[in-house]
Amino acid sequence: MKNPTRLLIIFIILLCIGAAISVWARPQNKNPYYSHTDNGRLRVSDAEWKKILPAQSYNILREEGTEAPNTGPYVHNKQAGTYYCLACGHPLFSSKTKYDSGTGWPSFYQPLDKNSVTELRDESLGTVRTAISCARCGGHLGHVFDDGPKPTGLRYCMNGFALAFEPTK
Ligand SMILES: [Zn+2]
Repeated sequence: MKNPTRLLIIFIILLCIGAAISVWARPQNKNPYYSHTDNGRLRVSDAEWKKILPAQSYNILREEGTEAPNTGPYVHNKQAGTYYCLACGHPLFSSKTKYDSGTGWPSFYQPLDKNSVTELRDESLGTVRTAISCARCGGHLGHVFDDGPKPTGLRYCMNGFALAFEPTK
């Protein structure tokens, strides 16, 4: 076999492996809890989530971590579409209410609807903040502040690694 042919075959094999990994890595494909339509409250142990979620997303969603500014996805995403909970697929925010807050985190002035997220008083870091979590799985998403734009005046400051975006078809 001539060298160029061999190289081509190796290239094709690598391409197939890459495609297989990308399909396997999609959260929906190995996550039995992922749904855009099931609103039933989930009670899943952290040990179970740890098996399902990527490490950085697990740290935010289950351990209330925060990604460093400008390190997560979607900060500058201006595509039309919907943002879902990365853990359970619950619809959270519309691109219509996303705005550039200049903070380095994806920011919205309101959730998709009243059943999207829940608020919780957060007294960590020596201040009182309002933590925002997914209403279906309870996963931590970020915080809400009252320095947002009209019409709500609110800034939902979200971690990109806790979100899954799907563009409008
Ligand atoms: Zn969720």
